[in-house]
Amino acid sequence: MNDESIAPGPDEVPGQLRDKILADYPRLGPDDPFTFDCHPGVSCFNCCCSDVNIFLSPYDVLRLKRRLGITSSEFLDRYALVPIQKDMKTPVVLLKMGDDERKSCPFLTAEGCGVYGDRPWPCRMYPLGLAVQKDTPDGWRGERFYFLLRERECKGFGESREWTVRDWVENQGIGPYDEWGEAYKELTLHEFFDHGGVLPPEKLEMLFTACYDLDRFRRFVFESTLLERFEVDEDFVEEMSYDDEALLRFAFLWIRFSLFGEPTVRPREDAVQAIRGRVAEQKARAAAREEVTATAGKATP
Ligand code: SF4
Ligand code: SF4
Repeated sequence: MNDESIAPGPDEVPGQLRDKILADYPRLGPDDPFTFDCHPGVSCFNCCCSDVNIFLSPYDVLRLKRRLGITSSEFLDRYALVPIQKDMKTPVVLLKMGDDERKSCPFLTAEGCGVYGDRPWPCRMYPLGLAVQKDTPDGWRGERFYFLLRERECKGFGESREWTVRDWVENQGIGPYDEWGEAYKELTLHEFFDHGGVLPPEKLEMLFTACYDLDRFRRFVFESTLLERFEVDEDFVEEMSYDDEALLRFAFLWIRFSLFGEPTVRPREDAVQAIRGRVAEQKARAAAREEVTATAGKATP
């Protein structure tokens, strides 16, 4: 299987581990069983919520900032790390661990996860991992398979509760996270990157803002001339003004249009005409300038 990645993203699992998983780990389908349980009675309870890399998707940030009742900008400032690396293709956002000795997750409490209903995708998935093969443009659907991540200190595998992969995915509420993850992958695994495309810093910033900093993106949508220049259904516009999921849907469409040139957002006809008019005027002015220069040249003795 070529061109594979380990969810949540292709750059997020170190290459050696990724190769090992793809080569050696047993592949699980939806009906394959496993035995696992995690509850306050296990001796390792809460031990896996410290000093851990949790990669956040745009939907993770949306759910967490809503849960906490803060804006996306506040969430990113307080709870996220956004490492900047040279030649980075797409933004990477990590949950920032605390500065206590154990580097605990900021949401960890003695009773367990303090944001349990809105915990991020990786926290829901464990002990499952997911490997995804990229779809091809001709409609071929890449292979996906699950595998078990057995952390050494995790006593959950000694418990007797039985699951199938399908039961686990349903029980942990992973469905909407996967749907949003698929939509985001259309951006992060866009064919633009396959052809060696690299986003300049300002476009990378736009991708980050639109997908992760939704409250800032909302201001951009409603306080710029965007809605005057593009045809967006009126009901959708209203929904975007208060509904974060609607806004995130529009953000993905906007990025596909503005960064990758897909026809996902349509310019208004009057705006197109106005632009054509301005271009024609500029050309006419440039032609007139050239004519004046040429005449002056002839007149020079
Ligand atoms: S978000 Fe919850 S489950 Fe995830 S690391 Fe933090 S405390 Fe643990
Ligand atoms: S290490 Fe395993 S069993 Fe222990 S708290 Fe974490 S997930 Fe649960």
